[in-house]
Amino acid sequence: MRIFSGIQPTGRKHLGNYIGALVQWVAGQDRGDALYCLVDLHALTVPYEPDALRDAVYDTAATLLAAGLDPDRCILFRQSDVHEHTELTWLLSSVTAYGELTRMTQFKDKSGSQGELVSAGLFFYPELMAADVLVYRAHEVPVGEDQRQHIELMRNVAQRFNTRFGETLVVPEGRIPEVGARIMDLQFPERKMSTTGGSPQGTVYVTEEPDAIVKKFRSAVTDSGREVVRAPDKPGISNLIDILAAVRGSSPEEVEASFNGSGYGAFKQAVADAVVDYLRPVRERYQELRADEAELERILAAGADKARAIASETIVDVRQAMGVGPVRARQ
Ligand code: ATP
Ligand code: MG
Repeated sequence: MRIFSGIQPTGRKHLGNYIGALVQWVAGQDRGDALYCLVDLHALTVPYEPDALRDAVYDTAATLLAAGLDPDRCILFRQSDVHEHTELTWLLSSVTAYGELTRMTQFKDKSGSQGELVSAGLFFYPELMAADVLVYRAHEVPVGEDQRQHIELMRNVAQRFNTRFGETLVVPEGRIPEVGARIMDLQFPERKMSTTGGSPQGTVYVTEEPDAIVKKFRSAVTDSGREVVRAPDKPGISNLIDILAAVRGSSPEEVEASFNGSGYGAFKQAVADAVVDYLRPVRERYQELRADEAELERILAAGADKARAIASETIVDVRQAMGVGPVRARQ
């Protein structure tokens, strides 16, 4: 069983990324052959600074290793090091409907907040993401809830490719956690916590200092009620319940039961303390790992070599099936 997932090396990664994706990534190392990718080419779809991007790749790599990825048990690499992703993106575009891309809600959400330039790359993002996964013929893609639509698109693309050109690609399944698949911004609990689109006060960073984390939870937006229960008109409290459940590894019902009659103040403090304890070891390991850029680069380069070996075989088969290039056997 092959697992693939990607994360954008943009800014500091947050608690939503950690709970929604990284926890599953770490577990995936024991369930199959796992490939995890720092998708720097996806990060070019919104405004960015070239020097900051280079550094952010190392920040994110160190965060992933600190979270428990082990380069001996998974393939960790940088997307732009494996050119097969971009080649497959173009090849797959011939079996992708323009209308499908126009329906993607991530594009609609992000294009609204881009200022003067909405890049064509932002529109084409789901095609590159389809190629990321399909080039490894991955079976499973651990992601947060927000990626459900992009997974559906890549499944359609793979199926359409196989129907048109013959069985070549694996149709992957998304793997979305039951609790914590959509962590919301603490200040705007109707919006997901986000690396690029969130509020600074409502976003809890994986490597953030304990004092700052506590402050953010204490000032989290809730409602005027008192009961620690989930409800559609209580998005703030519902989000905090989900966060605590995910961190404790319990269910939201158990969290509700254990705070029956406590009031919001005590509950927020408990969530803050639990998250601080949860992230403390990750932050400490991060600081050690981030200090050695040469070692991070060595890990990524070794990962890219392994990834390329798999991806290049798929590209040979796809080109062959599509009639692109001379008849050529796999090397
Ligand atoms: P951006 O908002 O700029 O797209 P992001 O915060 O979504 O950034 P990504 O690198 O795009 O970060 O996502 C990495 C993984 O984290 C994906 O699997 C995504 O589904 C998951 N994820 C992102 N935000 C959340 C969230 N708020 N709750 C749970 N999972 C999330
Ligand atoms: Mg995202």
